[in-house]
Amino acid sequence: MSKKVAVVEDEAELASLIEYNLNRGGFQTRIFTGADGTFRDLETFQPDLIVLDVMLPGQDGFELCRRIRQGGKLARTPVIFLTARSDEVDRVLGLEIGGDDYITKPFSPRELVARIKAHLRRSDTESEPRQTHLTMGPFRIDVAARRVFQSKTTPPATAPADVEIELTSTEFKLLEFFLNHPGRAWSREELLREVWGEQHFVTPRTVDVHIRRLREQIESKPDEPAFLVTVRGFGYRFEAQ
Ligand code: CA
Repeated sequence: MSKKVAVVEDEAELASLIEYNLNRGGFQTRIFTGADGTFRDLETFQPDLIVLDVMLPGQDGFELCRRIRQGGKLARTPVIFLTARSDEVDRVLGLEIGGDDYITKPFSPRELVARIKAHLRRSDTESEPRQTHLTMGPFRIDVAARRVFQSKTTPPATAPADVEIELTSTEFKLLEFFLNHPGRAWSREELLREVWGEQHFVTPRTVDVHIRRLREQIESKPDEPAFLVTVRGFGYRFEAQ
């Protein structure tokens, strides 16, 4: 069955160019203008991936993505942003927004299609887990359900309890990789190859942004990480403790 891609873009000409190329690429494509009601329409459409423009007439793409990530049916759907300015990139991949990837305008439709395919291949591989549960230190992953729990003490409680960590698909894959390979230092390039796989478009900076996001979720002091430590001049290492 062909995969469903939602394109949220208010510029009609650009939207139909994207639609044409996605349809040719074998996707079932639907265009959304970003006007009020787009979020509800997206939930109804249930896309496998969302292409999201930043500049929209009503709420902007950032607002929409934040809402998508808040929970519900679309919370884990990959989001590729269309950005006009490179200074938006940090926000796109930032914890606050929760995008999975970005492509800067102007872009070639062929590149967009290639990226979409790479993301969807990833989610396909992810849906065939090799093991169903993984426990490492205070972390427990239910691979089949794609849920992560961390044992921690949250005041006012005095004893540690399992807390679910909400992660995007990329963060999940990154943490799963680290939990499977504790204690070893990984360079950014190795992480790109192991976690992002065939996507040639992401840069080492992408790794840093996702690491920062993961730290915000799992570290009690993200600036002094205890689990995801920096290996100076090289990359990162996961300490299971
Ligand atoms: Ca626009």
